[in-house]
Amino acid sequence: MVVIGAGAVGSATAIEALRAGLRVTVIEPGEPGGPQATSYGNAGWLSSHSVIPPALPGAWRKVPGWLADPLGPLAVRWRYLPRAMPWLLRYLASGWTEARVQRTADALRTLLADAPALHAQLAAEAGVPQLIEQRGLLHAYRSRAEFEGDALGWRVRQRTGVRWEAWSADELRRREPDLDARYTLGIFVPEAGHCRNPGAYVAALAQHALASGSERLATRATGFRIEGGRLRAVRTETGEIACDAAAICAGARSGPLAAAAGSAVPLESERGYHVVVEGATVGPRTPVMVADGKLIAHWMDGGLRAAGQVEIGGLDAGPDWRRAEILHRHLQSMFPALAGAEGAVAAKQWLGHRPSMPDGLPCIGASAASADGVLAFGHGHVGLCGSARTGRLAAQLLAGSVPETPLEPFDPKRFG
Ligand SMILES: Cc1cc2nc3c(=O)[nH]c(=O)nc-3n(C[C@H](O)[C@H](O)[C@H](O)COP(=O)(O)OP(=O)(O)OC[C@H]3O[C@@H](n4cnc5c(N)ncnc54)[C@H](O)[C@@H]3O)c2cc1C
Repeated sequence: MVVIGAGAVGSATAIEALRAGLRVTVIEPGEPGGPQATSYGNAGWLSSHSVIPPALPGAWRKVPGWLADPLGPLAVRWRYLPRAMPWLLRYLASGWTEARVQRTADALRTLLADAPALHAQLAAEAGVPQLIEQRGLLHAYRSRAEFEGDALGWRVRQRTGVRWEAWSADELRRREPDLDARYTLGIFVPEAGHCRNPGAYVAALAQHALASGSERLATRATGFRIEGGRLRAVRTETGEIACDAAAICAGARSGPLAAAAGSAVPLESERGYHVVVEGATVGPRTPVMVADGKLIAHWMDGGLRAAGQVEIGGLDAGPDWRRAEILHRHLQSMFPALAGAEGAVAAKQWLGHRPSMPDGLPCIGASAASADGVLAFGHGHVGLCGSARTGRLAAQLLAGSVPETPLEPFDPKRFG
């Protein structure tokens, strides 16, 4: 069988397919875990509690702001608006009521609940156990009122079984001495984990698949040869690869491949950015997300990374590095001592594409044209976290066994 794409999802799928006894060829035009992959530059959160879809009830009221402020935490590029409109409408509809949000959360929880443990296991197998840390994650708020603004999300999380500790201002100061004093409430989620170098982690998983017997071809998949409902070959830029099964794990670039397999699904890029401050000497003790800037900060192997921003502008438009500068400035305001610290001015910048479905749930399931083709993409904000369980589920589908958790919520056919 062929795995298309060696990001977090494809690499986990390759490992699990090998474990299921399948012969595996991985197609990837870039370096596995390289900067072309979204899996490279994310915030590293293995946030088993990130079960809330991006749109919540009342999100429609924010639409004028998304259009008016091109540098806000969520923005839609005007020129791209006509193309994005159908996706945006579905996105708003999927978070229309609390009941819908709960349904999404319940489904996502099945994918994410034990992600930190699954990733620790994969990392150990791949020889990089040090890259996965289980230290909990922190959400910092400036006031109780700001927290109340997120109350729906926390209420829904609680119903899925997520538990947390509330830290007072004093507790927050004690635990996070470098964090700016404007943050006065911490919500600490002990169950969650963190990856301290997502690119290196994915590269290690891909290498582990290779060492376990997979082949790798440096080429790009372009389509499929399907005859009488059976998959015969994956078409690539360098010719056909004969196979009897394939998994589409090309992240935000999976859309045309899924369409070629009969499943035209509404996949959109939620573009995001990161900055890495290499010489930083002050920062968080716990990976932290702040409610005011909607960004995540923590130490990575290469320095202090801040990741965030959502920009709807498609796959082809160039980066708007002002967004990365916003992240950098916000990081400095979170940790005021950072601005004066050695090396803090030199920040590396990166743009990536979250592969996002409008309802906040990935596509994991058979393609419409052939059950031999499996879609495994569309994890949006939680693709690193969700990749370990997704790899297992995709491998189970490819091997023809019964998936270990229900796949109905992730069925690509749900879009009609
Ligand atoms: C700023 C930011 C912060 C984030 N933070 C987090 C976080 O903290 N936690 C979390 O869980 N998620 C986070 N995410 C989301 C997460 O990074 C993605 O959901 C995840 O990386 C998607 O993984 P993937 O394997 O599906 O796609 P990718 O990592 O993009 O991998 C797809 C691979 O397919 C290859 N490919 C593309 N086209 C083809 C083709 N035609 N043929 C063959 N190969 C192809 C690409 O080269 C690439 O290597 C964040 C994303 C962003 C942008």
